[in-house]
Amino acid sequence: MAVTSYTAWLADGSPAHAAFPTRALALNLHAYGYNIGRTDVIGLGDERHLLADPPMDHTPYSATPWPGAQPYPYVLAFDIMTPVPAGMPSLTVLGAKLFADKQAGRAELAWLKYMNWTDSAGRTWHDSWKPTWYRTSSTDTGHIHLSGRTDHVYSTVAATYDPIAELSGATMPDVNDLYAWQRIEAITYLQDAFSGAGGFADLPTKGSKVPFTTALDEIRAGVRTLIDRPPAAFTTEQVTAMAGQVAVALVAAEDNPLTDAELAAVAAKVKQVLAAALSG
Ligand SMILES: [Zn+2]
Repeated sequence: MAVTSYTAWLADGSPAHAAFPTRALALNLHAYGYNIGRTDVIGLGDERHLLADPPMDHTPYSATPWPGAQPYPYVLAFDIMTPVPAGMPSLTVLGAKLFADKQAGRAELAWLKYMNWTDSAGRTWHDSWKPTWYRTSSTDTGHIHLSGRTDHVYSTVAATYDPIAELSGATMPDVNDLYAWQRIEAITYLQDAFSGAGGFADLPTKGSKVPFTTALDEIRAGVRTLIDRPPAAFTTEQVTAMAGQVAVALVAAEDNPLTDAELAAVAAKVKQVLAAALSG
């Protein structure tokens, strides 16, 4: 069943995960104190988004996926909102940086499909790369909206992208940080995939089992139950009763050379055969 509406999504249990690159960039900005909204499923919209017709990239059932089909139940967009943390670049400066880096062909932004942002002159733009850049004016003011491509949902290219550090003149993270990020992404993916509810922040931590371990334990318990289940067994009384019924039916059958006098012998033989078959 293709989930294309809020109603169908609710019926499916409301699953949602943040795409890798939007989550990586959002969490990086969040570490500097930026407001990225909810941190459990980054970018999952409120009811206004969820009920929108057509549903767009703040939902896991977007009607505007590109260039491929919507990778349900991934959410491909997120917003960078006010308030901006003290001493940090404004949304105008950050938006300009993101736009410039995308225009420069930075691999860390290969996942970016379009962005809505407001420049230093107060003009709000819809900058889209589908597949090459075009610009229209936008009414989506007050925040930076970023939407990702469907073919980069699992991409880790954004993991080392730190626009705030670059704006402040700091250096890029070293290669060890890159591997650390990739490990975090892989673990997060596994946890999301097995959590059912979706979302890193919802997961139990610190001494309690993560959903992945819980799921493995449940599978192990299920297998143990199957192994321990005794085979179907009949008591001697049940076998005797079945044999008696078969013997009566045989003797009662038309054109049957057997008579009632032979009933006991027939029942005994049937019981012998049944018992041998059931113990096999
Ligand atoms: Zn948005």
